[in-house]
Amino acid sequence: MSDNKNSLSSANRLIVKVGSALLTTDDAEGLNQDWLDALADDVATYVSNGTQVIIVSSGAVAVGRQALSLSETALRLEEKQAAAAAGQIGLFHAWQRAFARHDLQTAQILLTPSDTEERRRHLNARNTMETLLGLGAVPVINENDTVATEEIRFGDNDRLAARVAQMIGADTLALLSDIDGLYSADPKKDSDAQFIEEVSEITAAVEAMAGEAGPGYSSGGMVTKIEAAKIATRAGCAVVIADGKELHSLSNIESGKKCTWFLATANPSTARKRWIAGALTTSGALAIDDGARTALGSGKSLLPAGVTKVSGDFERGDAVIIEDASGNRLGCGLIAYSSNDAKLIAGHKTGEIEALLGYRGRDEMIHRDDLVIDG
Ligand code: GLU
Repeated sequence: MSDNKNSLSSANRLIVKVGSALLTTDDAEGLNQDWLDALADDVATYVSNGTQVIIVSSGAVAVGRQALSLSETALRLEEKQAAAAAGQIGLFHAWQRAFARHDLQTAQILLTPSDTEERRRHLNARNTMETLLGLGAVPVINENDTVATEEIRFGDNDRLAARVAQMIGADTLALLSDIDGLYSADPKKDSDAQFIEEVSEITAAVEAMAGEAGPGYSSGGMVTKIEAAKIATRAGCAVVIADGKELHSLSNIESGKKCTWFLATANPSTARKRWIAGALTTSGALAIDDGARTALGSGKSLLPAGVTKVSGDFERGDAVIIEDASGNRLGCGLIAYSSNDAKLIAGHKTGEIEALLGYRGRDEMIHRDDLVIDG
């Protein structure tokens, strides 16, 4: 359970998802820079207090549609993709400008669903984000619309944001849009609809409150938000849904503005370990010596020096089994090297990796965050 219940400012890692409607306007550039600046002001305060923040921003299609003078009517997939490609530049630049006012460096990351689901890509994307956060930058993420086809698109950045939260073990996710939170029923149709301030578990009854995907209150809105909240809360991340139309929407949440909180049902690191342990297919095995075994038992990473044998055929990011000298399974983990490279560095000191491989890879064969020891 998250100990920073219902607070943005005390988050360790905060993901802020911004819907298109909040940052686009009808003017020539199509972007509401004042809104972006105000959000960046709030984020800068959190960053200066030690919170790491990632923005997941929609808006590329809306901005690009205007730039390319595409009609207001439904766009074909390739038109949407073209619009996203044209709009993403201005969108990102606007974020860059907003954060530069606080001397914060931004970095653009475009993701598809397979980048978050497939282990190898997942590991690369995650390491990039970790590195950027470690360097004090604010990653700004959107879907890679150009290469994502209709069938494999996230389609809505709510789910993308939840996957990102899961991927990097965020503890708080804010979904800002024009929806102010969850009601017991569609408030437009039911005058008795009650506003729900806090949801401790997303049950079937809670899902039913969101109604069905379709026009009105739930249009691409509450249903996908609940889906996103399910992914995130199970991954140990609390979720807040709030209306972000006014300037400074994050600090408005902090000062008590109406919103709905979904509490995390796990802790991020336990949830990640569960995800790794659920790796159905392992592609190889590492035998380790007694020293490494003791180190793993006390929560340390697996270094190349402790690996005595590498078997199987695997790529960086694959799940592999860890065994003792007699072949007994000790646990499993996501490996930072391919089987070929792992064979070359097994038994060697971390400082020798670069000379052996010709590049400086990770210090660990399997980082402790990517490792689960059988209980
Ligand atoms: N990737 C889309 C865009 O930038 C947004 C998807 C969504 O509606 O959340 O326009």
